[in-house]
Amino acid sequence: MSLLDFLRRKRAGDRFELSLGPGEGETLPVQDTRAAIDELSQVVRNNPEAVEIYLALGSLYRSQGEIERAIQIRNNLIVRQGLDPTFTARAWFELGRDFRRGGFLDRAAHAFEQARALMGDKPAILLEQAQLAAEGSEFERAAELYSRLNRPLAQAHYLVRRAQELAQGGNAAQAGSLLRKAVRVYPGSVEAWTESLGRAYAEGSSGQVKDVLREALVKVDREMRFVLLEGLVDTAAGVRRAPGNEAPLSNRDLVGAVIPMLEDQDPDVLLFFYGARLLLHCGQHLEARSWLEKTLVLRPDFWLARLEVFRLTKDEQSFTPFFKEQLEFFMDKARRLRRFVCRTCGLKRDSVFYLCPRCRSWHSIAFRYDFSQ
Ligand SMILES: [Zn+2]
Repeated sequence: MSLLDFLRRKRAGDRFELSLGPGEGETLPVQDTRAAIDELSQVVRNNPEAVEIYLALGSLYRSQGEIERAIQIRNNLIVRQGLDPTFTARAWFELGRDFRRGGFLDRAAHAFEQARALMGDKPAILLEQAQLAAEGSEFERAAELYSRLNRPLAQAHYLVRRAQELAQGGNAAQAGSLLRKAVRVYPGSVEAWTESLGRAYAEGSSGQVKDVLREALVKVDREMRFVLLEGLVDTAAGVRRAPGNEAPLSNRDLVGAVIPMLEDQDPDVLLFFYGARLLLHCGQHLEARSWLEKTLVLRPDFWLARLEVFRLTKDEQSFTPFFKEQLEFFMDKARRLRRFVCRTCGLKRDSVFYLCPRCRSWHSIAFRYDFSQ
């Protein structure tokens, strides 16, 4: 009897009838489904086509969040004596993915190891293991696996994550060495450059800020360069500084290190905009205004820049205190808008991301100029 015949026969009987109990929707009764899954596993035997369908059924359950049923299908194949080892390996692999989806990271790791022992270093397994390591905050292992997969961008990313941990634990030397390794592996690693820039700032060295920024502006993709400055403005604004601690670098030194470097670049809307933000942070309002105006020459519809100009000129206008208060309110709202978007899937975020949390694209972040979307 073929699997299809089996399914047809079962559909004709009562046990495959859909129950429509209150609030249950169209689901099979738990006991019957378990029994059907077990019976199906007997039918598929060693027929390659049938095993494929059986594995696909498991994946269908997984995609619907019915992890337990998916796991049951894989286990049925794994314990089967005499099954072609390729299928056993596939069952372990899918079992790993089921466990990962269910949040059982240790069990997932074990299943992937079993699959790897049977199939060898297949990229699909290594990729699952790399993602699993990353999810479990095993950044060094994730970096190592991405290196074997020849994915330097991701490898560099997890080297930086490990460096951040080391720096927080007070191990600055080892952190520095991992950051250098990250840019060796992937010279455009914007996360490595941003972290290095933050460290240079924290060490109070304007010369180092200048050197790191000069090199980073060359190595990082043009469309990702704003991420460097977002990080630097955040650091300077004390986002990552313990309250009460003084800024390690004076505003004058910071402006002196960064602004001439930005002036040396080809005209670029975001470099002008972030230059203006840095100048604003450092209290240089006149210069900030002129940088915002440069931004608007290149991109007149950049309304966040336009609002900042308006705010900077409000003291010259004869606005009532009430009007000024309203203006500050809207400025505050506008600054907190989700300024970043994924170029691949359109996800909007209010903080920088290197790996899109929705579509899993790397370095797909862009600045949103048009907030009407
Ligand atoms: Zn995305």
